[in-house]
Amino acid sequence: MAYDDSNIFAKILRGEIPCKKVYEDDFALAFHDIRPLAPVHVLVIPKGPYVSLDDMSMQAPPAFVGGFFKAVAETARVLNVVESGYRILANIGTDAHQEVMHFHVHLFAGRSLGGMLKKVD
Ligand code: 5GP
Repeated sequence: MAYDDSNIFAKILRGEIPCKKVYEDDFALAFHDIRPLAPVHVLVIPKGPYVSLDDMSMQAPPAFVGGFFKAVAETARVLNVVESGYRILANIGTDAHQEVMHFHVHLFAGRSLGGMLKKVD
């Protein structure tokens, strides 16, 4: 799928739509999710036109991919959840119900997060 820069996260990156920023560096921007599913629910997005992890890993240089995941770890440090624990998750593609077509990692924390996935079928 081609990247479409009219998506909501592209607009946030360009500063056209506000966000509650948590962390930012050359590789990533982290901000609070507008509909939080946990006491802490932050999205970390790469500063590049990537639809998915697959897209980013194919298009971006390894240093960028590494920089992005270091930014995810730094976001958890800024949120002060490293000791208590946190969960990262990325929805990619149809089966995962990805809504926003700009790659993003969800970071959940602030309470016990339960089992990994609900069992369905
Ligand atoms: P996905 O299902 O694509 O993994 O998750 C997209 C996430 O983006 C959802 O958790 C949704 O609440 C969040 N989201 C959608 N629009 C906005 C927005 O305008 N601002 C922020 N901060 N989060 C958004």
